Amino acid sequence: MNDENCIFCKIVKGEIPSTKVYEDDKVLAFKDIEPAAPVHILVIPKVHVTSLLELEDDELLIHINKVIKQVAREQGIAESGFRVLTNIGENGGQAVKHLHFHILGGAKLPAF
Ligand code: 5GP
Ligand code: ZN
Repeated sequence: MNDENCIFCKIVKGEIPSTKVYEDDKVLAFKDIEPAAPVHILVIPKVHVTSLLELEDDELLIHINKVIKQVAREQGIAESGFRVLTNIGENGGQAVKHLHFHILGGAKLPAF
């Protein structure tokens, strides 16, 4: 089920353009519009799930993990290392309330 007011659901439906780097029937990966690193990709489930807290489909999480690894390899950042993160809720700094995993790489990332 998609949420009609959700930006990432609109990207899934093609109502908002995105630069896709991977797509299948369950998952989409696209370039972040404001990259925080030379490579900054967002990996999302096509189904609207608010955050990792609400994700109950373990198979989907396993699949997302495979996609993250594939995208990292295809983007040429797997060997040099990269970061995967998902923000959850207010204190986590989650701006878009549709589960997404940031893949960040292509440069030495700041420690945090
Ligand atoms: P959050 O802070 O929710 O973890 O991250 C949301 C991310 O989505 C941000 O890095 C932001 O740049 C990205 N973003 C927000 N709106 C759009 C959009 O319309 N298109 C793309 N490609 N990225 C977006
Ligand atoms: Zn959504």
